[in-house]
Amino acid sequence: MRAVVLDGAGQPAHADLPEPEGPGELVRVRACGLCGTDVQKLGRAAAGTVLGHEVVAEDSAGRRVVLVHHLPCGECERCRAGHETTCERFPEPTIVPGGFAERVRAAETIPLTDSLDDATGTFAEPLACVLRAVERVPRGRVLVVGCGFAGLLFVQVLVRRGDDVLAADPLPHRLDLALGYGAEPADGPVDAAVLCAHAGVDRALTALKPGGTLLVFSWLTEHAPVDFEDVLRRELTLVGSCSATPNAMRDALALLPGLDPIPTVTLPLERFAEGLELYASHEAAKVVFTP
Ligand SMILES: [Zn+2]
Ligand SMILES: [Zn+2]
Repeated sequence: MRAVVLDGAGQPAHADLPEPEGPGELVRVRACGLCGTDVQKLGRAAAGTVLGHEVVAEDSAGRRVVLVHHLPCGECERCRAGHETTCERFPEPTIVPGGFAERVRAAETIPLTDSLDDATGTFAEPLACVLRAVERVPRGRVLVVGCGFAGLLFVQVLVRRGDDVLAADPLPHRLDLALGYGAEPADGPVDAAVLCAHAGVDRALTALKPGGTLLVFSWLTEHAPVDFEDVLRRELTLVGSCSATPNAMRDALALLPGLDPIPTVTLPLERFAEGLELYASHEAAKVVFTP
């Protein structure tokens, strides 16, 4: 089967792979979204890695399904405390070899409603990450820093929750999208800030009122200095949220039909390099590949 596989330098290359063996249901991939974390793994992940975890597939019965990315055990102390994504079982692969392939083995699937197209169905996983993170964000005036795909999902979810949402992004076309979903341009102090772009950490912390909360959502690829004396004096709260649970994915699928569409570029897997470039240059908010 065709797949995009990382080579010895961690760069994507087209390859022919044997059909995946092992546990899980063999499903045919219909679409797989490119995530910022996929891009960050380029040049770092091991040779032979197949990236892609935002997957819509067709199961053996011909039904369209969304693939669950990571499964917590649901029983350990961390799971019961609500930190399921730190569960020891969580890192085990559930989509083998990875979504940028024609076929994968899936540990768990969730049916996709007919009203959602394949590309929108791939939003279930990133939206689930956002829904789980939003639970840690206090209500009120909330600033979203970084209006890439995740930031745009945060804006939509927070607006629907009833918050006063503000948005910041150095790129006008991304900020315009956020404003179109109901955010206002960043201005004045806020109760909480959501960090979706690590370059904005200063901006996010500075905007917080005393007692405010910073939610760290973006993956930090560089050292981001935090002034802990400021955290102390202004009694700020720093919280992190990483990844999603199967339940959050079900919630995301229920919410997706009600969200405003986010501009998406859909390309065949053969044009992976082109999609990567569109994403990395911030020209496309979201890129989805179809094998
Ligand atoms: Zn992702
Ligand atoms: Zn657990």
